[in-house]
Amino acid sequence: MSDCLFCKIAAGEIPADRVYEDDQVVVFRDINPKAEVHLLIIPREHLAGLNELESGHDALIAHIMRLIQPLAVEQGLESGYRTIINTGKDGGQEVFHLHIHLLGGRDLPGFS
Ligand code: 5GP
Ligand code: ZN
Repeated sequence: MSDCLFCKIAAGEIPADRVYEDDQVVVFRDINPKAEVHLLIIPREHLAGLNELESGHDALIAHIMRLIQPLAVEQGLESGYRTIINTGKDGGQEVFHLHIHLLGGRDLPGFS
């Protein structure tokens, strides 16, 4: 059995505040939100991170990217939002199951 936290969330073995799911992805609220809205978008398939992507994942990645805009609108982020993918230890990745952070709302700090 997988020991991956986000695989367990995707499978429903660990509870999470889910806001969307379909056959390919699950979206849930970050347990330690860094903004008014802080969602994590994950593929159901276990991929450790960006470095594991292959051409066979192209449709999945396109699906995830195109999901961001309707999710943002649903969360009231019409005026803007930030997406982050941390990759690897030095990139600040803590959970090694690919995820996109979707952040927005008031007081989003500067980033540059
Ligand atoms: P990373 O640093 O890997 O890009 O982000 C991992 C994110 O997962 C962090 O923002 C952290 O707060 C979130 N996280 C860690 N454990 C859990 C959990 O059990 N449930 C939820 N909903 N989020 C988690
Ligand atoms: Zn996983």
